[in-house]
Amino acid sequence: MRLAKYLAEAGIASRRKAEELIKQKRVKLNGNVVETLGVKIDPEKDKVEVDGKAVNISNDKIYILLNKPAGYISSVYDPQGRPTVVQLIKDIDTRIYPVGRLDFDTEGLLLLTNDGDFTNLMLHPRYEITKTYEAWVKGVVSSEALKKLRKGVLLEDGITAPAKVRIIKRGRNETLLEIKIHEGRKRQVKRMCKAVGYPVLRLKRTGLAFLNLNGLKTGEYRHLHPDEVERLK
Ligand code: URA
Repeated sequence: MRLAKYLAEAGIASRRKAEELIKQKRVKLNGNVVETLGVKIDPEKDKVEVDGKAVNISNDKIYILLNKPAGYISSVYDPQGRPTVVQLIKDIDTRIYPVGRLDFDTEGLLLLTNDGDFTNLMLHPRYEITKTYEAWVKGVVSSEALKKLRKGVLLEDGITAPAKVRIIKRGRNETLLEIKIHEGRKRQVKRMCKAVGYPVLRLKRTGLAFLNLNGLKTGEYRHLHPDEVERLK
């Protein structure tokens, strides 16, 4: 089997991205950095590593729920050398990666896994998984703005689906909103709030489908129970 195909099947990256990983010399085969594309491997016998972590299609699947702190990037590797969410997970020697992304400065619920099928399922728009956010925004939010958010907001990449929005708390010059969406566009909550006149000051994801952050302090994580994984699928 071609190495890039193997990496794609293991859920590491798309085949094209897997080829990029190989070009970036981040892939080792039996301890040696792979220097060329098109290398073939025997999945039964060969040992493949990416960024120093073993890859194995037949590995047990791992599902982790992390309470992400701000100041961590939601990827496995950052060319700029910033801390990554994967570095927060200490007891795992297989390569895992985040399911979708939270911005560098966004906190809260993030799943990590080594299961490519699960990732595709969770990110597929057809499944319409509800994501719940708490957003501190600048200003005292008007009922007009709430209406717009609930109806759908026109962004550069099109109108958003209706969001469920409620005010949790009002401050003197800021408002804490709870916003539930099922789309997963880049920086969506920040762009929606800004579009209706209330820039986000602080953002936290507090829920994903039926999952929440109960019992997890910032930076802490837990494994999902097998029945939680089944319910998500
Ligand atoms: N929406 C955003 O704007 N940022 C996130 O990190 C997640 C959702």
